[in-house]
Amino acid sequence: MKSNRSSHPGPAAGLEALASSLKHILHERAMKPGVKALLRMNKPGGFDCPGCAWPDPKNYSITEFCENGVKAIAAETTGKRITKEFFEKYTVADLLQKDGYWLEQQGRLTEPMRYNPKTDKYEPITWEKAFYTIGQEIQRMEHPNEAVFYTSGRTSNEAAFLYQLFGRELGTNNFPDCSNMCHESSGVAMTEAVGVGKGTVSLDDFEEAEAIFIFGQNPGTNHPRMLTVLERARKRGCQILSFNPLRERGLESFIHPQHIVETLLNKGSAISTHYYQPLVGGDFAVLKGLLKAIFEASKKNRYQLDQDFISAHTVGVDELKADIAQTLWEDIVQQSGLTQEQIVEAAEVYLRSSKTIVCWAMGLTQSKHAVITIQQIVNLLLLKGNIGKPGAGLCPVRGHSNVQGDRTMGIVENPSESFLEALENVFDIVAPRQRGYNTVDAIRAMNAHKVKVFIGMGGNFVSATPDTSFTEDAIKKCELTAYISTKLNRSHLVTGHQAFILPCLGRTEIDLQNKVPQKVTVEDSMSMVHTSEGINKPASEYLLSEPSIVACMAIACLPNTKIDWAGLVSDYDRIRDKIEKVLPAFENFNERLKQPGGFYLGNAAREKRWNTFTGKANFITAPLPMLSRKPGQLRLMTIRSHDQYNTTIYGMDDRYRGVKGERKVIFLNESDMRKKNIESGDVLNIFSLASDGIRRMAKGFKAIPYNIPEGCAAAYFPEANVLVPLNSVADKSHTPTSKFIEIEIEKDDRQGIDE
Ligand code: SF4
Repeated sequence: MKSNRSSHPGPAAGLEALASSLKHILHERAMKPGVKALLRMNKPGGFDCPGCAWPDPKNYSITEFCENGVKAIAAETTGKRITKEFFEKYTVADLLQKDGYWLEQQGRLTEPMRYNPKTDKYEPITWEKAFYTIGQEIQRMEHPNEAVFYTSGRTSNEAAFLYQLFGRELGTNNFPDCSNMCHESSGVAMTEAVGVGKGTVSLDDFEEAEAIFIFGQNPGTNHPRMLTVLERARKRGCQILSFNPLRERGLESFIHPQHIVETLLNKGSAISTHYYQPLVGGDFAVLKGLLKAIFEASKKNRYQLDQDFISAHTVGVDELKADIAQTLWEDIVQQSGLTQEQIVEAAEVYLRSSKTIVCWAMGLTQSKHAVITIQQIVNLLLLKGNIGKPGAGLCPVRGHSNVQGDRTMGIVENPSESFLEALENVFDIVAPRQRGYNTVDAIRAMNAHKVKVFIGMGGNFVSATPDTSFTEDAIKKCELTAYISTKLNRSHLVTGHQAFILPCLGRTEIDLQNKVPQKVTVEDSMSMVHTSEGINKPASEYLLSEPSIVACMAIACLPNTKIDWAGLVSDYDRIRDKIEKVLPAFENFNERLKQPGGFYLGNAAREKRWNTFTGKANFITAPLPMLSRKPGQLRLMTIRSHDQYNTTIYGMDDRYRGVKGERKVIFLNESDMRKKNIESGDVLNIFSLASDGIRRMAKGFKAIPYNIPEGCAAAYFPEANVLVPLNSVADKSHTPTSKFIEIEIEKDDRQGIDE
């Protein structure tokens, strides 16, 4: 394993990405609708990729998508259908034996289904009957907080706005969402430090940046079009510094599949100029080290820092300087897993650059010290005035196409007073003020029998959440669960006493209201709001749109509603007119959507307006925690494979990491394997160690030697989520610590992987 690079021989993307894309389209029997959809994806007048939230360039190409965008479209435009005959054939108990990949492979849901506990099977039900039954159950609740409304980041702005309006007219703020498990830590950190919970950069800034730092992110799989931007930046001399415990191929070498010559010659472009592999959980120490090196360098020349910006726009620099001065290099080196030389080298790149962007993803957000770690990124950028200037800024890269938009629409358990007041004024309702449940709270409440009704708008709750066994038991305590979905997944099989599957239209499908095609809108990682309009015939005549399902459910649940739900969904422009009234940033909403590519929502910090408790940008710091590791213990991080999108499993391969046809694998450092007398391919059981004293186990994982620091390991979610204790969350953001799980491994003496 000696070489210091990832195990994949060739560059990322290129011919392999083209071949894989074609394979998925063919495999899903989606050639015609799939290709038709791809040619309209991520373009004005077309629809938005239901994959990640990477923005669309103004000068888009005819094929403005990546391999994983193709997988998402193939999965949605698949020719396979799940009909009532399918559910007659399988009991829920049968289906629970199937893995996520098999369930995903069964095709699109086609009609509303209701679970029959007597037969343990789902049976067809009419929409009217389904809404009536759900309505009766909600009306039977003793308190509105007995209902939970979960949202996955694929939900459009219009559906999300109606969904929160429904819940708030009902009287609850129980709006857990997938953001709770991903960038919540980013939102909390940035709001405290610079007064806004969203990234401050635009796509154009990447064309000007002189240095781009990337922490805890694997764009090659999770935001592939970002590689196009990084390749261009690298070619014009921008320094690209990657910090990731794992060597990720996309951060090393990349071929843009539309560059025919390079693709045919399999000639990759280098991406990272510097690649550092800190320990799992070592980023806080790395960033403190960068700050220390920068302060030490600025002693020789104080103008290496932007003194004017610091004095005009920030507070707390002296406290930061004092904290960093008393943080010892030996602690930084020990806690980060990097050498002082490496950190100083990276700091020198930062100091030479006058325009720096810092990108990050789950590698930073899903650990106990996530919030304070991300605030060190803010500190780093503030020292050189790299917020609010072209070519520089904060860039949390969102993993779900509209996760940022949903939050903007009010999908949050603790909405602002101004938002609730605006809602009350516009809709003449009384909005609840009691803080609602985030994802972890909702699971605890379900376990405590405090939740009667769980509604899931998209997503795969039981697979996305931590502590799988506990979470599944908690869900089963609900009186009723209902999921608004396009495809079958495990969450449909872990049911409340009553359960419904409510199949909805996909992003690629035409949404007719009163025979008029409707547009929805999404907001990407960089606060661009644009339309998405389906182009394909729906997969079934019985599908309803997300907004329609919410409106029908609200009408059934709120007999005294004051809101014209039917009117709102008869023409989505009306929903947007209401959004505009509640959210001033959406002024002239429908009008501005006519601009090709949509419009920018704005970002106060980008304009150096600091909506913080000090009215300035805050330098925030805290002592470096001295994390220790007992002998034999490892730090596990959960990851996605290249054939996976969030909890959706498109395939069983992970090409860039050399894995084929399996998912129950654990990536280990070779010397750790030697110390434990583990051979490549040995089957292991993984145990997590938690403060609640429960020894959680994941059985039958195959050992794979990989380029990862000693003492660290990685395994795929959702398979490894059973190891993440529910109570193990990030400070302040309550995000599950899926990227820092303390484990022990032992050989599985049965030597067989049980699927
Ligand atoms: S980069 Fe993200 S948004 Fe773009 S096509 Fe790929 S998955 Fe879709």
